[in-house]
Amino acid sequence: MADLLALSARIIDSGNADEPVNRTTQELSEVADGIAMVESFSHTVALRTDDGLVCFDASGAAAGAKVVASLRGWTADPIHSLVYTHGHIDHVGGSGAFIADAREAGRPDPVVVAHENVPVRMDRYDLTNGYNSTINARQFGGVRGLGIGIGGEQRFLPADAARPQVTFTDRMAMQVGSTAIEVHHDKGETDDHLWAWIPEHKALCTGDFLIWNFPNAGNPQKVQRFPAEWAHALRKMAAMGAELLLPAHGLPIAGRDRIALVLGDVATALERLVGDTLALMNEGATLDHIIHTVKVDPGLLAKPYLRPLYDEPEFVVRNVWRLYGGWYDGNPANLKPAPQAAFATEVAGLAGGPGALAVRARELADAGDLRLACQIVELAVQAGPEDREAHAARAEIYEMRRVDESSLMAKGIYRWAAAQSEQALGDDPA
Ligand SMILES: [Zn+2]
Repeated sequence: MADLLALSARIIDSGNADEPVNRTTQELSEVADGIAMVESFSHTVALRTDDGLVCFDASGAAAGAKVVASLRGWTADPIHSLVYTHGHIDHVGGSGAFIADAREAGRPDPVVVAHENVPVRMDRYDLTNGYNSTINARQFGGVRGLGIGIGGEQRFLPADAARPQVTFTDRMAMQVGSTAIEVHHDKGETDDHLWAWIPEHKALCTGDFLIWNFPNAGNPQKVQRFPAEWAHALRKMAAMGAELLLPAHGLPIAGRDRIALVLGDVATALERLVGDTLALMNEGATLDHIIHTVKVDPGLLAKPYLRPLYDEPEFVVRNVWRLYGGWYDGNPANLKPAPQAAFATEVAGLAGGPGALAVRARELADAGDLRLACQIVELAVQAGPEDREAHAARAEIYEMRRVDESSLMAKGIYRWAAAQSEQALGDDPA
């Protein structure tokens, strides 16, 4: 069994993430007497009670059976309840394996507990099945060998994902055997999130409120996230005086001071981003000005649990704009624009054709200005959708961009773009 608490203590105390902090070994580690974590995508946290296990999250569809097998290597106790910290498919997709485990043993199904917006989310997944399958392939496609395998092939939410039977609005007291558990709703990554407090262990189950990455409060392809509410939830959790923190991604953390430090740092990063963005919005600034102005303190971004390897601050700024403002970015030309291809054709005509734009894009990329290079090469391909020179430049520039970016979300979109042009050229996408 891995000593996950020693590992997280060393990394937090040294400030140096010199080994992976988001592990998906599918293996179980006991982190306290009667509490275990199976490291997966997402983790399952299991709490032993007199009436059986209370499990937090079921991992994704591809991992559910492995997670249950790891649990069964630890205990034969029945699974009394399955609590979803929220309805993302990497947290609920594996629930079918938990139900199957009970049925194979001739036991009652686990009671599935969640916030009242989880069933609403599940209905929305049916409404947006094709969109979600597409964006998840794009989001996770830029980092090879990730081995995440979330999401069904045909159906984004697996057909056997269990719907909640017990839901609540703001908070709820649970009693399983002699163990008390409080579940609290707060918005953050989603509008259906909960975090749990287990007084007997002074333990917090934080779901995705802590993911050992910069908070994914900005995801460019997904529905609204709530960074200010997220920070508020972290402050509430920090006030609980927890001795053990059990996140759904990343390492568990022991020690009151260490937990307070981590929760406080993540809250501070979000509060400053929201505050700085709102201040500029209130001064009448455009989105363009704000996204190129508001930054997170690099010292905070370097913390082992705040690195922008998944989402990133720039995307959070856009989400703050969307939450408090609207989709109009302050540039009147963007209110009702011509089709992008028409604009690109006009610019290409001025520049000397799509090939000339492609040449300039390569110069910019070679000089290190990948933001501008991407904009120019995109015009080249929009103006010349059959132009091989333009596609060759586009494939190379977006691949350079993928390598240069830190966040999985940016890498995924840039890889997708490079693959489009590789296909247009008849190359096998790398
Ligand atoms: Zn998650």
